[in-house]
Amino acid sequence: MVLLDGKVASQAVKKELKVATAQLIEQGKRSPHLAAILIGNDGASETYVAGKVKSCAEIGYGSTLIRFADNVDEKELLDKIEELNNDEAVDGILVQLPLPKQITESKVINSINPDKDVDGFHPVSVGRLVQGLKTFIPATPYGVMLMFEYFNIETKGKHAVIVGRSNIVGRPMSILLSSNTKYGNCTVTVCHSHTKYINEFVLQADIVVAALGRPEFIKADMIKEGAIVIDVGISRVDDKSAAKGYRIKGDVDFKNVSEKASAISPVPGGVGLMTIAGLLKNTMDAYLRR
Ligand code: NAP
Repeated sequence: MVLLDGKVASQAVKKELKVATAQLIEQGKRSPHLAAILIGNDGASETYVAGKVKSCAEIGYGSTLIRFADNVDEKELLDKIEELNNDEAVDGILVQLPLPKQITESKVINSINPDKDVDGFHPVSVGRLVQGLKTFIPATPYGVMLMFEYFNIETKGKHAVIVGRSNIVGRPMSILLSSNTKYGNCTVTVCHSHTKYINEFVLQADIVVAALGRPEFIKADMIKEGAIVIDVGISRVDDKSAAKGYRIKGDVDFKNVSEKASAISPVPGGVGLMTIAGLLKNTMDAYLRR
């Protein structure tokens, strides 16, 4: 069984970007710059944004963290995004999701300049992805593709079953894996909460991508012997014995599934780290485009 170690694979991507950034500086140019907007104090969002900002610093990117209170007015947020859209020193903009109720997510996503849309959620980015054009790929599916690339996982002709159809993970994942590209060319099945007999679909999969947000939903008896299993899920599960009072769990029962899988990504230490790698690559692309 191959452990698809996100730490190792993401370090390789970061190293490459760090070298590229150092070269830019040597040439007298500025480094790429990411602006991250965080609203409220949600613990998970705080952790994700802190990880992104820290990774920028590690590889020599500049970053700005802009914080708003949970009750921020939509106009105030949109005005800030407009300011960042027009800021020559900012290459990439991300707004950490989820957003508070008073803010319409689509309005925020649509307000980001597509040339700075390093999360790849803007309809222009998604449209380009569907058409197979160069674009900003949403960071998590991009991270999964970078993982396939790093571990040289053959995907061509395989049956990929994706559980989850969100705009940020499952849906773009299905487009990437069905595309005519080196780490695509799969036959893809997308399952969701209305899928009947989900076990039967997952059992047919050569590649399983679990992105539903249900801790340990994917059990060993749903997995074909030798399948490749990618666990995107991140859930906080209460555990009084843990120092923080909770543990991070993926969507896959890692212990039992890893006995049947030929390759599997762990949680934590898997796709989460690759997501940051995807974001950093998008930010470099945004810089180079401009
Ligand atoms: P989401 O927007 O809540 O979407 C979940 C998807 O799973 C939906 O399509 C839903 O179906 C489907 N689903 C839910 N319960 C199901 C069930 N019992 N059977 C089959 N399908 C089911 O979640 P998301 O944003 O895609 O995130 C999914 C998970 O990935 C979460 O744990 C999240 O924390 C994690 N995540 C991790 C990263 C990372 O960097 N590793 C990044 C993003 C998200 P319907 O469409 O029918 O509702």
